[in-house]
Amino acid sequence: MTRIFSRPQYDAVIIGARCAGAATALLLARAGARVLMVDREDGSQDTLSTHALTRPAVSLINDWGLLGRITRAGTPVVRQTRFQYGDDVVDVPVQPGGGIAGLYAPRRWLLDRVLRDAAWEAGVELHTGVTLVGVQKQLNGRVCGVSLRLKSGEVEPVSAGIVIGADGRQSSLAGMVGARSIMNSDTRAACIYSYVDGLPNEGYRWFFGDRVSAGLIPTADGAHCFFAACDPRAMRRWFNFDAFGGMVQMLSQWDPELAAELAARGPIERLRRFAGAPGHLRDCAGPGWALVGDAGYFKDPATAHGITDAFLDAQRLADALSETPGEAAAYQTARDRLAPHMFTLTQQIASYDWDLAQLKQLHMAFNACLKQEQSELGHCAFSQTLAA
Ligand SMILES: Cc1cc2nc3c(=O)[nH]c(=O)nc-3n(C[C@H](O)[C@H](O)[C@H](O)COP(=O)(O)OP(=O)(O)OC[C@H]3O[C@@H](n4cnc5c(N)ncnc54)[C@H](O)[C@@H]3O)c2cc1C
Repeated sequence: MTRIFSRPQYDAVIIGARCAGAATALLLARAGARVLMVDREDGSQDTLSTHALTRPAVSLINDWGLLGRITRAGTPVVRQTRFQYGDDVVDVPVQPGGGIAGLYAPRRWLLDRVLRDAAWEAGVELHTGVTLVGVQKQLNGRVCGVSLRLKSGEVEPVSAGIVIGADGRQSSLAGMVGARSIMNSDTRAACIYSYVDGLPNEGYRWFFGDRVSAGLIPTADGAHCFFAACDPRAMRRWFNFDAFGGMVQMLSQWDPELAAELAARGPIERLRRFAGAPGHLRDCAGPGWALVGDAGYFKDPATAHGITDAFLDAQRLADALSETPGEAAAYQTARDRLAPHMFTLTQQIASYDWDLAQLKQLHMAFNACLKQEQSELGHCAFSQTLAA
């Protein structure tokens, strides 16, 4: 058998090398742990995302010393967020602070690569084309290692002080360790998006109407991510034949001039569709294992908070493991202070079962949670207030 891993045993083995896995690997390696991170993909592909980072995510990536890499690669600063409820426009300036100019929405091929590169520089051993196929347990049930299938088809065992699943929404590790479900939701919204060139950067723009929403998010190289979302049952009505035309038509109810401009410009990349997926909040820590990112907690993208969750998970897990090596229970306690409430709010927003006044209240409640997350990080200076 060809051994591709440099050692038979690591302090931590991380399955999944995108935003949750790479951020966790980076923090653990910087704290001195011997970390192996594997991913079944090679990591060069994009992934489904509309890219918007919230304040806690930007604060964390700045704390980790990586925000400069994101901005130097052409990600523009976002200084304002606009919420448009029918004709009612609410502009929310993003106050700079703590050395941070505003919000950012990096493309995923950039964000995930920056995190992975930083993890590698910190000493993380990374192998792609490697798939988790099993876990090993001690007699007392504690997880103590994994079985990994290599590109060659061979399966190699590796021992670990802790095994961390950063393997996304359909996490294999969650199933293998029997992670208990805390909350589930069948509510889901459908989303379609692409990219347009040449619009001025007016910040994040979110539009809400009768059972539909749309948005524009300045991302990399002068392009905006343009998305439209609705109840999955209305997907066909809006986007069946000319999907981009349907997106533009939806936008025209809030801003006909902008819609006409987008129609004239057209998409610069293929359209991506997401039909929606059920949400879950699972136990994220057990004997010898932990879950970070979507693996432990997936809620609808309606609140654009998945990357923020992934970063908060990485930081909280690294903090917990530095206090009690190999034991992640404190991480779950920290995550679950707000997670059930934010999960419920997000799924209500994704249901499209509201009128615009109710939606505004839901957004205000979600914003209050973001503020709590931000104050947990001790970055009150970098603030954004959703006006009533
Ligand atoms: C349409 C859409 C729009 C979104 N927009 C936003 C947004 O604007 N802002 C925001 O914050 N969030 C957004 N999200 C959510 C965000 O994309 C996710 O929360 C985030 O990608 C989760 O990261 P992750 O690292 O946990 O998992 P993933 O990004 O899913 O990565 C999991 C990795 O694990 C690997 N893997 C899986 N199984 C195995 C295995 N058995 N062995 C080895 N490797 C494995 C996969 O190859 C993958 O690379 C959006 C999501 C969708 C669907």
